Amino acid sequence: MCYAMPGVIESIRDGHVSIGYFGQRREAITDGLDGLSVGDYVYSQNGFIIRKVPADEAHKILETWRDLFSHLKEEDSRQSEKPHLANDGSKLSRILLKAANCGALSDDELLSLMSTTADHEIELICQTANNLRHRLLDNSCCVHGILEFSNVCKQGCMYCGIRAANTNINRLRLSIDEILSAAIAATERYGFKTLVLQSGEDGHYSDDDLVEIVRRVREKCGVLLFVSVGERSPECYERMYKAGARGALLRFETSNRRIYETLHPDSNHEERIDLLRKLSRMGYLIATGSLIGLPGQSAKDIIEDIRLAKSLNAEMYTFSPLIPAPDTPLANAQRPNLNDMLKLTSVIRFIVPNSRILVTTATELLRGDARELSLRAGGNSLMLNVTPKAMRLAYELYPGKTSAISLSDQIQSTTDLLKSIGRAPTDLGRPYVA
Ligand code: SAH
Repeated sequence: MCYAMPGVIESIRDGHVSIGYFGQRREAITDGLDGLSVGDYVYSQNGFIIRKVPADEAHKILETWRDLFSHLKEEDSRQSEKPHLANDGSKLSRILLKAANCGALSDDELLSLMSTTADHEIELICQTANNLRHRLLDNSCCVHGILEFSNVCKQGCMYCGIRAANTNINRLRLSIDEILSAAIAATERYGFKTLVLQSGEDGHYSDDDLVEIVRRVREKCGVLLFVSVGERSPECYERMYKAGARGALLRFETSNRRIYETLHPDSNHEERIDLLRKLSRMGYLIATGSLIGLPGQSAKDIIEDIRLAKSLNAEMYTFSPLIPAPDTPLANAQRPNLNDMLKLTSVIRFIVPNSRILVTTATELLRGDARELSLRAGGNSLMLNVTPKAMRLAYELYPGKTSAISLSDQIQSTTDLLKSIGRAPTDLGRPYVA
């Protein structure tokens, strides 16, 4: 299995393209890629055409997908059936029936879901969200690669293992050439079609350096590129966009200004949110969200976090449990439990039914089966770490983040899991609207 399936161009008008995948139509934009014609095969990610694929190569790949594509769909349909909601007038059944019909849930209803503790009720919530995901978005699950290139950071975020004040970690940064060769390995050897380039806030890289990194990765790898480099100036983001970056991964961390200020002595909440709005206006796909389990955070704050991500036009919802990191002021904080993260995933699905919800690495740490359960609770997106080993080991935002498992083994276990639950590790883009 690979992470994208080529599609065939069925029509093009003013840079808008309709692409066919075994009879399904999706839409994408050409994003400045010239020379495309009806009948060409292309890869598209998140609604952007990222490159043309030679016809013979496309035919070969499509041959491997032909049977698998429909088999996975059937498997997903089988495993995502609507749960049986008793017509007993109970509050939970009423809320879930409304959620299943994409009804807007009130804060009171959302809080009631978040505070559910009985296992069988949590299961009903997850099944309802999973069924909604299946009906609206089918079985595609995007699998992005994340490439971490520096753990040097000037910020002092109270929870983060790479905060500037932590003198107990080994600081490393990759050169531009090293970043490029890691990106080439991820795309050519391992087949990733979307990459996220992430780092601490490391002033060693000038704006010119970041622009060059984006330009060279885009040029050499033909991928959809997200940047995750923290708070750089709008001008720097503007230049990275021009150089080919199309997504920005930047969490606002919490919608609660008071909590934010306590945890980020060197950063301003309003400015961070304002930057996110500017990035959205520049055309970036926004991946954002918050940390769950922050001291003083309430369920109401978390609902506000989801609404804030929605108001920022998030293309990807990325919400992560706080994993207490040693040598940080929050070393003794309490980890949220998996059930809280599963309910959160479902609640995001209810608030924004057609969203892309990432199962974060930190969530996966909560329990061996957390990834599968999250995908069964409404999640539909994964990220695998494609960072070279020495850098990966040094990039410890929180303990246990770094997997000792090789990338090829991670890919194998991910594709095995996706196959077993009927998800296709493809990202076909938005459904075509005629
Ligand atoms: N500097 C960049 C990206 C690096 S940090 C930025 O500011 O966006 C990436 C993310 O790691 C942060 O947004 C934060 O949400 C998460 N993170 C940091 N420490 C964590 C911890 N202890 N537990 C869980 N997530 C953490």
